[in-house]
Amino acid sequence: MPLNVLSVTSEAVPLVKTGGLADVAGALPAALAQQGVAMTTLLPGYPAVGAAIGKGKRLHKWDSLLGEPAQLLGAKVGGQDVLVLDAPAYFARDGNPYMDSTGKDWDDNWRRFAAFGRAAADIASGAVKKLSFDLVHTHDWQAAMTLAYLRHAPFGSGGPKPAVMTIHNMAFQGWYDRTIFSDLELPKKAWSIDGVETYGGVGFLKSGLQLADMVTTVSPTYAREIVRAEFGMGLEGLVATRGDRVRGIVNGIDTAEWNPATDPALKSNFTSRSLAKRKANKRALEKHFGLEKSDGPLFIMVTRLTWQKGADVIPEVLDHLIGNGGRLALLGSGDAEIVAALKAGAARHPGKVGLHFGYDEALSHQMQGGGDVILVPSRFEPCGLTQLYGLAYGCVPVVSRTGGLSDTIIDANPAALASGAATGIQFDGVHYHALAAAISRAVELYRQPKVWQKIQRTGMNADFSWARSGAEYAAIYRQLTEENA
Ligand code: ADP
Repeated sequence: MPLNVLSVTSEAVPLVKTGGLADVAGALPAALAQQGVAMTTLLPGYPAVGAAIGKGKRLHKWDSLLGEPAQLLGAKVGGQDVLVLDAPAYFARDGNPYMDSTGKDWDDNWRRFAAFGRAAADIASGAVKKLSFDLVHTHDWQAAMTLAYLRHAPFGSGGPKPAVMTIHNMAFQGWYDRTIFSDLELPKKAWSIDGVETYGGVGFLKSGLQLADMVTTVSPTYAREIVRAEFGMGLEGLVATRGDRVRGIVNGIDTAEWNPATDPALKSNFTSRSLAKRKANKRALEKHFGLEKSDGPLFIMVTRLTWQKGADVIPEVLDHLIGNGGRLALLGSGDAEIVAALKAGAARHPGKVGLHFGYDEALSHQMQGGGDVILVPSRFEPCGLTQLYGLAYGCVPVVSRTGGLSDTIIDANPAALASGAATGIQFDGVHYHALAAAISRAVELYRQPKVWQKIQRTGMNADFSWARSGAEYAAIYRQLTEENA
């Protein structure tokens, strides 16, 4: 009998994506199917999700889900089972799942995602007829209140359900003022240090961290880092008390969607044995970004433009990058100050720096397929996906030594170069000097084509499929269901 797992997430490709969470939640069902796990994904009914599933099959109705009517729709998307929480008052809004068109968080995010958690807990605990799950797996703060309802106010009769919570980024915690507690429809006992109370308010992520049977995060190094104040963001003490109930499982990538041999977004498909074909992609990128044609190294970045991602250091390091014969193509959106600094830097270097502000999935594929080096100078990085896409596409990653970046990239030090294990460059500390030195190292290696191509090929041939990580999640599911039996 397969294990039936309910995955609760506010994003999943191909339906809705603002970041890496969507890639992971979208890839998990197929990865786990190979492990004898049947995964159903519950998503909020954002407009794009509703449009993709059409009418769906109505499975349940709530007259009041924290004050608003809602229904549950079932559908198949790309062969996967999907449940959609159709609650127009909460989710039928244009734009980003979390922000209005001006970039401001929706004022009622706490109610929207508490309602999402309430619904998930009902489904997981057997309160929705015909749906039955062995285990619930929630992702990030948006789904974390599932645990609070499941442990403190279960409506179903399905017995206690084992629960896993995955933290994709400790920096986003969903913390709200204590005044919301009375509207959460939780019993008074939930207002405690063992429940939802967090630094005098209500902490969504903290509730999950406290109440899940197993907490995973998306790389072993990040799992070790978050017991320290600089990475734990206030929750490091709780992480430490959870001990070996906090594990790190590195993300895989969807190798069907990210395969340079078949990727329809690329002008020229290629494999590790036909790297020369990347040139046509480089030419196409130069054209798109208005860059001078050159065979010198083309650096790329695909990122949220934030402090976490070290994007603020890029304007500082531009002169060095260009001075070393490099050019930069950047795709991203985020902080206005970083955008302004990048624009000023680009103005100093016409034809050498190309900026594309916004979100463009196809272009992100084209950049990995045509760029030579991807810069990922994150100050912290739970796992990171763009460096993995870089590996798969022969776009050599230059990364800071933190979190998943340090777990997934093998630095081209002399020993790694000699043994043929190197896949990229790592540097310590996110500041001008460290990044500039790393860029110099990349340029030096790029100028030795044989060495460079070996690094590209080693990265392309590395295994970043979901098979291994899927097996690790399945082992955790089995452990918890056995403990619960
Ligand atoms: P995070 O989730 O913290 O933003 P990750 O590296 O884990 O960082 O995942 C980011 C994902 O979002 C990757 O799939 C990346 O390609 C994609 N991405 C980020 N910014 C953009 C953008 N401006 N346009 C297209 N894709 C983007």
